[in-house]
Amino acid sequence: MSLHALVLAAGSARRLAGPVPKQYLPLAGKPLLRCSVEALAAHPAVCQTTVVIRDADREMYNRAVADLEDLTSPIIGGDERQRSALNGLEALAAAAPDQVLIHDAARPFLSVALIYRLIGALDRADGAIPALPVTDTLKRSHDGAVLATVPRADLWRAQTPQAFRFDAILEAHRVHADAKMTDDAAIAEAAGLSVALVAGDEDNIKVTTAADVARAEHILASQRPAPLDVRVGGGFDVHRFGPGQRVTVCGIAIPHDRGLIGHSDADVGLHALTDAVLGAIGAGDIGQHFPPDDPRWADASSDHFLGHAARLVRERGGRIAHVDLTLICEAPRLGPHRAAMIARVAEILALRPDRVSIKATTTERLGFTGRGEGIAAQALATLHLPDDGPA
Ligand code: MG
Repeated sequence: MSLHALVLAAGSARRLAGPVPKQYLPLAGKPLLRCSVEALAAHPAVCQTTVVIRDADREMYNRAVADLEDLTSPIIGGDERQRSALNGLEALAAAAPDQVLIHDAARPFLSVALIYRLIGALDRADGAIPALPVTDTLKRSHDGAVLATVPRADLWRAQTPQAFRFDAILEAHRVHADAKMTDDAAIAEAAGLSVALVAGDEDNIKVTTAADVARAEHILASQRPAPLDVRVGGGFDVHRFGPGQRVTVCGIAIPHDRGLIGHSDADVGLHALTDAVLGAIGAGDIGQHFPPDDPRWADASSDHFLGHAARLVRERGGRIAHVDLTLICEAPRLGPHRAAMIARVAEILALRPDRVSIKATTTERLGFTGRGEGIAAQALATLHLPDDGPA
């Protein structure tokens, strides 16, 4: 089944009192038309999207859809919506799609699920439209006075896109080209086609008034992923060399003619990383969480400290985006152990290895690291925390 989408954007209505037709009005910087086109073109079931425009709007159209791929050349519409739909359908006839979606450009919030509901209903009808029940009581009035209450049972509000078997709706539009209808389902009904209702979507609004623009912005904000609070923390640590045959750096035992002195395993790399992560969430430093005079931490493996800091981040609903560690010493040579160290830190933090950076450098024989008295490490951790509002 091939499904093509037709977007009607040839209206000239400037109901929002401005120089720009409403389908080109920006919603968070993006024209309504572009929102509609993107939603259709990105849908897995839609093979091709074509837009019907006014000739006078060509420039605006080109700007609105700039660098969108898979879009065919626009079709020029007519003065009436119905004529524009017919022009569009005639232009698609060469491609002979099985089904077509006809959509008003000023409805920017058509959902993936809505389109699937419409396509599904074409199994049992010639056409399908999204609709919502009327829940307000309806009045007929004249000159500000109520004439009658209109029974609302069986009344529905029709939306777009509307889906049809292509041949059937093209023929219906040709036959009823001179009838004045406000949607394509009305043409289908006039032609005796069957039209099914599927559940519409309250967010699938038509942007017509200034109040609609405000509502559209509200809907857009509710669809946007929650803003992030990006934090960066720094950590620094030094351990002095003493007697021993190996040093432990980033969880990896590295043979050397000295060891590192410290209360725990003296893993200078993991200590700097732990302080960076704690710093990013404002949770003090490693000494507050694991006091050096507490016998529990004597000779402790430092992965416990870093794992604890990562757990505090998760408890705040956050995640670590990246860590970057610089190790500073003349010896031992750390470069050959870099891959193993990255793999171990990634494992402790439950991160992909490409989110862990470990570098080694010397200080050109200057200072305490240059004299071979110990190893220094400095770390940066970048975190994403849920945004908890203004600072
Ligand atoms: Mg330390």
